Amino acid sequence: MFTRKLFILSLVFFTLTLCCSGCSAVFSPDQPKAEKGILDLTQWQFEENGVIKLDGQWEFYWNQLLEPHQLKDAGIPMTGYIDVPGTWNHYNVDHKELSGYGFATYRLHFITEADERLGLKIPRVFTSYKLYMNGELIASAGTVGSSRETMTPQYLPQVALFEPQPGENEIIIHVSNYYHRSGGLLEALILGNEKQITGIREKSIAYELFLFGSLIIIGIYHIALFFFIKKDKAPLYFGLFCLLIGIRTLLVGERFFIYLFPDFSWEAAHKFQTLAFYLGVPLIIMFFNSVFPEDFQAKITKITNWVGAGFACLVLLAPARIFTIFNPAFQLFAFIVIIYMIVNFIRIIRRKEKNGALIIIGGIALIIASLNDIAFLSIWLHDQSAPLLRNIVKTGNLSSVGQLIFVLLNSLELARKFAHALVEREKMTAQLQEINLNLDKLVHKRTKALEESREQIEHQKAELEKVNKALQVLSLKDPLTDLWNRRHYDRTIQLEWNRSLRHKYPLALMMIDIDNFKAYNDCYGHKAGDECLVKVAQTTKEFFRRASDLVVRYGGEEFVVIMPGLGKDEAVNMALLLRKAIEELNIPHKHSPVSPWVTVSIGVTSTVPDNNGSPQQLFLAVDKALYEAKAAGKNQVKYLPMIDEGTDQGEQPR
Ligand code: GH3
Ligand code: MG
Ligand code: MG
Repeated sequence: MFTRKLFILSLVFFTLTLCCSGCSAVFSPDQPKAEKGILDLTQWQFEENGVIKLDGQWEFYWNQLLEPHQLKDAGIPMTGYIDVPGTWNHYNVDHKELSGYGFATYRLHFITEADERLGLKIPRVFTSYKLYMNGELIASAGTVGSSRETMTPQYLPQVALFEPQPGENEIIIHVSNYYHRSGGLLEALILGNEKQITGIREKSIAYELFLFGSLIIIGIYHIALFFFIKKDKAPLYFGLFCLLIGIRTLLVGERFFIYLFPDFSWEAAHKFQTLAFYLGVPLIIMFFNSVFPEDFQAKITKITNWVGAGFACLVLLAPARIFTIFNPAFQLFAFIVIIYMIVNFIRIIRRKEKNGALIIIGGIALIIASLNDIAFLSIWLHDQSAPLLRNIVKTGNLSSVGQLIFVLLNSLELARKFAHALVEREKMTAQLQEINLNLDKLVHKRTKALEESREQIEHQKAELEKVNKALQVLSLKDPLTDLWNRRHYDRTIQLEWNRSLRHKYPLALMMIDIDNFKAYNDCYGHKAGDECLVKVAQTTKEFFRRASDLVVRYGGEEFVVIMPGLGKDEAVNMALLLRKAIEELNIPHKHSPVSPWVTVSIGVTSTVPDNNGSPQQLFLAVDKALYEAKAAGKNQVKYLPMIDEGTDQGEQPR
């Protein structure tokens, strides 16, 4: 879709360009040629046959500026005939080849029956001339002279109108050149009727002004673009190139600029025109380098820049007669650059890079057209006079057509890029908006999920703490009797000791041991032993209802009770009651020597803690009390006070 639009646009541009360039005159191939200084146009009807080039053999008088009346006198020796168009360089005079410098008179007779006003389209002449038609001076450019000092050069293509004489008409042209390496009538003079000749001139000027305007506007546009988007340098190079060739347009071809400012220095005009060429080459390479950086290497771009700058300096510092000598060198260089461009273009085309297609087509048009402009070729062709090749290469305004195609296609590519960028931007904005919207949703979703997992973790943490606590409790409990175990005793007794010490309360301890339990086990079995243990434990636990009391299963069938706040009497009383309660459980014990039932012996101790004592001493006392209860015959309670430090340290056997 996009490509088709571009194709149609390109077609419109091409047609427009070709229409404009179609102004150059069309010549029929079988037009008569001057022979031996005479051109017979008796059969030539300008209205029907069109304009005619005054090509062929002209009379040539070297080193002479002969006035019409002088030439009327016979006997002035002619140097010979010379082919027009063509330089006089290499022309043989007395077996010597002429250089470009010198002066000469050209003469041509043409025979016509035309009875209307005719016009002569005079090209630039290298490098000054005076033109007489039937003895009358009708056109000139610069000042003709016999030395460099006496002449001034000027390129001034122009139109001269005149009334022809029926029959023979005479054109005499004085030409002098001391400024350019080639001299003479290098381009064709065109003869036609007034309407035809002024038409050619007007159309050419219109086309060139159109070209000038287009190039200047496109150039300024691209340079402005560069200043707004500094990132991409391609528009800058392209814009400068447009300005350069735009201004050059007025200095070549019909040279409208010289027509406006006739006194403008030939040197300066020549310098600018050459500079445009010398700077145009590196600019184009820089442009392609920034458009196709992969193919156009930075190194080669640098080289072209240096070469271009070097030649530009030469043009600025040296006069035309010197820098024109080096011109072929630069043209050769330009030729190599063109080959480099072609190679790169082929590579890019092979890659089928769609985006660069227009630029490549433009580049090819530019190359084809520029080959035409390379004076190296055209002057060489003039020098060599190879008419066929010359006809192929020299096809009028080809160079400017190529430039225009290049410029238009580039502008088209730019427009395409902009349109594409705009469309992309809109797409991206839509995408971004969607992403933004989704992002909001996503953030919401994620936050919720995070919140949930946080709650879950909190919950799990609480659960874990619970389990931990339970585990902790479990590790301090005896699984069989569900009483606290010895570890819990060890922790608690120290706390209770300290508390009682602080408050100066008494702290009592009781140790219970089942009598002859080994025998019980032996008699009733281990399972029954366990059940008995549980019953005794249960009874003991229920017996101590105070929150501060702590019943502990200290060992196999031994229990310890911590009783904070109980003095000797209360503690002993509790022990007596407990002993009785257990015996009254009436658990049979056949092999007990002290009772038919299961009984216990209890040791009791109590003290008001002071800084000299310790829980360990308290324990030793209760242990000893139990031992004494056993020793005294079991099934009884014994009280012992806490043993003072130093008096009875050692643990006594039980
Ligand atoms: P004494 O009157 O001197 O205390 O005699 P005794 O047999 O009770 O003393 P001893 O310490 O020699 O025996 C304790 C016995 O308690 C040994 C063991 O078989 C028993 N025992 C210890 N723990 C358990 C238990 O968890 N279950 C059962 N069934 N028996 C236990
Ligand atoms: Mg025991
Ligand atoms: Mg026992």
